[in-house]
Amino acid sequence: MFSPFIKKLMFARQFSIDNGVIELIGKRQVMLPSEALLYFDLIDEKKAYELAKKSGKETIEYYAKRLGGSSEGMLKIIEEIFESFGLGKMKVTKFDGIQKVVEIIIPDSTIGHVAKEKYKKTKDPACCITAGMLAGMFSFLLKKDVQCKEVTCIAMGHGGCKFEIR
Ligand SMILES: [Zn+2]
Repeated sequence: MFSPFIKKLMFARQFSIDNGVIELIGKRQVMLPSEALLYFDLIDEKKAYELAKKSGKETIEYYAKRLGGSSEGMLKIIEEIFESFGLGKMKVTKFDGIQKVVEIIIPDSTIGHVAKEKYKKTKDPACCITAGMLAGMFSFLLKKDVQCKEVTCIAMGHGGCKFEIR
């Protein structure tokens, strides 16, 4: 029902949903239908990516300050915070902190699923907000302005969404 991370936060009163307010470690969250994020993409995909990237970086800066930890600890924090967004569970399949190259697979990507439901099969990857969030979060972790490109997508008929960060 709840991930161990969320359970731990609930126990410490660091996660709550009450009176129209969702709070995760002192920061307000919004639980929107997944379609809303998919439709925001349609306004301007490039801008949506850039703004998601900005938000991803600011968010992880905030949680890094609150939760602290080493850089290996930071990767775990990124995974847990990202998971709490409901965008899917990330699997880091490659992490090269020297070359600053990361590969991530999200086997059950929420945006990928909703795009597939809406459009049957897309020509291009659909998870641009997810890619933007990952770019921002990993720019913070790798201490370098990196970009994230989605190379396979559930919406295109692939088995999972794969992201390359460099
Ligand atoms: Zn996707």
